[in-house]
Amino acid sequence: MRSLRPNTLRAIREVLRAADREDLVKAVDSALRPKRAVTSARKVRRIKTAARRQKTSDIRDLVAARASGSCEACGSVHELQLDHFFGGSSRKALESVDTCWLLCAECHRQKTVNLPSPTVWLARFMIHAKSHGYTTAYGIADNRFRSLQLQGRD
Ligand SMILES: [Zn+2]
Repeated sequence: MRSLRPNTLRAIREVLRAADREDLVKAVDSALRPKRAVTSARKVRRIKTAARRQKTSDIRDLVAARASGSCEACGSVHELQLDHFFGGSSRKALESVDTCWLLCAECHRQKTVNLPSPTVWLARFMIHAKSHGYTTAYGIADNRFRSLQLQGRD
């Protein structure tokens, strides 16, 4: 019934009413009622996921252009990968060109397992952020650096 035009539906409704078919009149009424724009949770999730992937893809392109083919921590040109410096729960909120850098696979592995230490990686990232004028990213790293020093985890 959805494909019928409203005027056609109204005419059908009058015929049904005249034939005393109230059960079918209700069905036609329902078809004539404007539909609410319902966006399913699944569709919203799909749209958000696509938007997030596109954002990460855009960041990857910009970071790769900035790094111009070498690891931003050691200079290696092998197996370059995007690293979200601030991972974990803050990863999505902090994801930007300023907080991502291009690392070679070996640096990426070492950084992921905090070797030689988390403060060494924070210091490397702070040098990187400072050289590009990323003051907010630098500030976040600096706070974490100081926090680890206070905890004696450097
Ligand atoms: Zn490297």
